[in-house]
Amino acid sequence: MTRRISIFGSTGSIGLSTIDLIERDPDSFEVVALTGGHNVARLAEQATALRAEIAVTAHEENLGALREALAGTGIEAAAGAGAIEEAARRPADWVMSAIVGAAGLPPGLAALEEGATLALANKESLVTAGPLVLATAAKHADKGARLLPVDSEHSAVFQGLVGEDMDAVERIIITASGGAFRDWPLDKLAGATLAEASNHPNWDMGQRITIDSASMFNKALELIETKEYFGVRPDQIEVLVHPQSLIHALVGFNDGALMAHVGPADMRHAIGYALNWPARKTLPVERLDLAAIGKLEFRAPDEQRWPALRLAREVMDAGGLSGAVFNAAKETALDGFIDGKIGFLQMSAVVEEVLTKLSGDAGLIRAEITLDNVRAADQMARETAKTIIETGA
Ligand code: NAD
Ligand code: MG
Repeated sequence: MTRRISIFGSTGSIGLSTIDLIERDPDSFEVVALTGGHNVARLAEQATALRAEIAVTAHEENLGALREALAGTGIEAAAGAGAIEEAARRPADWVMSAIVGAAGLPPGLAALEEGATLALANKESLVTAGPLVLATAAKHADKGARLLPVDSEHSAVFQGLVGEDMDAVERIIITASGGAFRDWPLDKLAGATLAEASNHPNWDMGQRITIDSASMFNKALELIETKEYFGVRPDQIEVLVHPQSLIHALVGFNDGALMAHVGPADMRHAIGYALNWPARKTLPVERLDLAAIGKLEFRAPDEQRWPALRLAREVMDAGGLSGAVFNAAKETALDGFIDGKIGFLQMSAVVEEVLTKLSGDAGLIRAEITLDNVRAADQMARETAKTIIETGA
């Protein structure tokens, strides 16, 4: 039986890895929608090769180029955030959510409402609107809606929980490579350049998540993602620095056992697990030779080096829409760093200031978690962060 699948963010790092897997088994899949951003040539090439029904670019100004590139193929072309959401409503069995940033939330919710299995690489969905995403999946479960984690740590935890009772779980440990600056002297961090921050020691990923790994904002988002997805208390979640990135997460049980998930640093494992779930199928990833690797190292995370981890704990405690505020402030600060407006360490300073400024606004943080309210909190946080960046206030 062929499965209908869509990939949101098909032109990115996770999108390419997903396509690599489905191209190896073309008779099993029928591709519905593919979406991308400015890389219209790549999007059109993917849509043509996979014979997609529709290709959508996020940007209206790219529609002409996309139409031209798809001329004669019979593949529909569309553009804009609304078109992406519409594409997410087309019937599909399995949908990959791999847009980067808060823009990934609306199409994911739409796909769940239509009863799709949503493979969630876009961690921002759970950070900004975890309770809404879970409730939407539950509400449409009778139609087949389901959420599967793709972030490597969360896939690892998910796999560690197969056949287990959540009541027996004491703690969840997610590992962090430590990113580009793990071993840098603290006083050098302020001068870290964009090129230096965009270079990950172990994983080959999109630029934004790579920089977020260096600042540990990525791990901060993943702490919140863990709390939302697995429904555990913040004090049950730990971050462990593990430079080799071979253990992705560990689940600690009430009898003292720790179940560790070990695998190569290759996202095709977690994507493939979500694609084939509940079955396991052969995947084209490296088989680890642990004797050759010799040793695995672990250390406690240093909150002075990575203030993002402390901020994530504050956000988990505050709850409500503070995750949406946190993420939007982080995205804006990251833009500021990429554009050369602020230094590397200022990213966490900006985010902290936005959280402080907006946490007093109980109406904003405590409002019900709906898509409209998430958008309002997101916009307010972006504006506040921009003002701080522009004025240095
Ligand atoms: P990427 O930058 O390589 O690709 C992002 C994709 O999103 C591209 O297709 C781009 O065109 C699209 N996009 C960007 N902005 C958009 C917008 N405003 N509207 C619609 N589409 C937009 O990113 P990536 O590394 O593939 O990461 C994708 C998501 O998966 C992120 O949420 C990231 O945190 C998460 N993730 C990635 C990895 C990884 O190994 N790359 C691992 C775990 C989780
Ligand atoms: Mg991860």
